[in-house]
Amino acid sequence: MKLILKKTVFYTLIALIAFTLVASTGNSRQLLSRNDQQLQDCLMAGSVVKNRQISRFCTNFPKSDIAPNSNLNLSESERFLAEVKNKLLTLPQSGSYEYILLRAYGAIFVNQNPEVKLPEKVFFNNESETKAFQATLTLGKVKNTNKCYLQKVAADAFNRAKAQVEIPLKSGYGAGDCARTFGTNLKFWRKYANNITLDRIRQGKETKILSTVAPPGASQHLWGLAIDLRVSTLIQKQALYQNGWFQTVENDIPHWTYLGQPEEKLAELGLQNKIVRGVSYWVTPL
Ligand SMILES: [Zn+2]
Repeated sequence: MKLILKKTVFYTLIALIAFTLVASTGNSRQLLSRNDQQLQDCLMAGSVVKNRQISRFCTNFPKSDIAPNSNLNLSESERFLAEVKNKLLTLPQSGSYEYILLRAYGAIFVNQNPEVKLPEKVFFNNESETKAFQATLTLGKVKNTNKCYLQKVAADAFNRAKAQVEIPLKSGYGAGDCARTFGTNLKFWRKYANNITLDRIRQGKETKILSTVAPPGASQHLWGLAIDLRVSTLIQKQALYQNGWFQTVENDIPHWTYLGQPEEKLAELGLQNKIVRGVSYWVTPL
């Protein structure tokens, strides 16, 4: 009798342990898919978040759950958005103007270098907003140029590439190829486009122009992390890649962006490699 009782207790315990294990695996799976769902909800809800629970989740997104290197179960866009979420004040709503700009110019947000300063929004509204951001930057000069400045860490990396092989600026040695003011961005915009173009971009009807010129306040050149170059050889390209510089805006061939990452890390961070007419771009997966 005593033996039967012992056996019953033993098997009940085994059954309990097995049940607990199955349940906890199920829970962690449920947690992952709930997080994925909520990340999507953040995206859909955008900056105007009505649901309080989503709102709290969007502003306190648990970094450990979405760190790109620790969770390769996430899709490219989820990994990329996890990076963006750590940097932007709000995640742009899918289909919004901000989302369209993030898709075109947002590769820069995978930059992990703590010395690189990224904007907290995808575009600046005016000159004073741009100046306020630019006033926080530490700039460095590109060697053998007149007025070509970039964020210091980006300039240092570019100067290292330039020490390996000569890489000329697109239009000589002026400031237009490097860090720009809001006014310069606006001047270039007006040369190629106007308010009708801007409306069409907002409506999602026009995207081609984004590879020629950035809308007012949206250029990577305002952030001091882009440079326009005349690159013609593989040796020049390799020197740039080795120093964290990549082409990130599709069809904007002279435009290079400082991502500050080795090339093999870029896919891990959610960027997509796209070859267009023989040119290799690292673009956002949106
Ligand atoms: Zn450019």
